Amino acid sequence: MSFDAVIENEIFEKDVVVYVGPRCHFVQYPLRRGEMFNQVAVFESPKARAGVEDWGTPEELDAAFEGKCTAIEKGLPLMWRDRRWRMFDRDPISTWVKGRIALLGDAAHPPLQYMAQGAVMAIEDGWVLAEHVGRQRGRHGGSGGTDWDAALAAYEAVRPEHCRRVIEAARAWGNLWHLDGRRREQRNAILRARDTYDYSFVDWIFGPTALTPEEEPELYRAIPLDAVDD
Ligand SMILES: Cc1cc2nc3c(=O)[nH]c(=O)nc-3n(C[C@H](O)[C@H](O)[C@H](O)COP(=O)(O)OP(=O)(O)OC[C@H]3O[C@@H](n4cnc5c(N)ncnc54)[C@H](O)[C@@H]3O)c2cc1C
Repeated sequence: MSFDAVIENEIFEKDVVVYVGPRCHFVQYPLRRGEMFNQVAVFESPKARAGVEDWGTPEELDAAFEGKCTAIEKGLPLMWRDRRWRMFDRDPISTWVKGRIALLGDAAHPPLQYMAQGAVMAIEDGWVLAEHVGRQRGRHGGSGGTDWDAALAAYEAVRPEHCRRVIEAARAWGNLWHLDGRRREQRNAILRARDTYDYSFVDWIFGPTALTPEEEPELYRAIPLDAVDD
């Protein structure tokens, strides 16, 4: 939608904002240098869970976000209601290369969307592969060709592990966002205690892309919810 449609809606014009709640979350962010505004509503559909085909209807959408905060109340009616996606991921796999065929992108690692890394990982896969092909150029038996086996092996040595971390972190983040009851209170206490500008949970993902396993940064250490007293 255009920015004009939402400018009076108490939105944050320059930031990605996620409102999280029990079994749902709502995302808002500017696009195209502020010409457009995007909103994403995600909720756990009781119908989909029960195997009912007509899942994710506008009625379910409204029910999932009923009584939520003002930004959602104002943003929800502006959403297009004719498109919806069911969310799937797949357990990570470690074999991406067979002979001269290599998987990359969603074919290798479809994630849940909670870290917004699906396309990022696909682009990184392509870049890492190209870098290794470049490094192996001219190394094939002195013939001047590329050592494709070495390039593909170097690619497979680093990318599946990175993407495994993303897939598993995305699942964990989704579970964390949608908590209810006591677990929700514990999560909120942990997040409130953190500095707003402390990005240490995501540094591993937004730093330079590793070309080798040694360059892969350490994963964050999760804080157990039970670390918070009742
Ligand atoms: C609603 C939504 C929001 C998203 N938001 C983000 C985000 O904020 N950040 C992010 O990083 N990622 C995001 N993603 C994920 C991202 O779009 C995907 O991870 C990414 O597009 C994967 O790229 P890919 O090239 O591997 O696969 P695709 O983009 O799926 O490309 C595969 C292509 O192959 C074609 N194809 C399929 N079968 C055949 C065939 N037999 N012959 C020829 N062509 C074929 C398809 O038509 C398609 O064009 C989002 C996805 C969705 C659905």
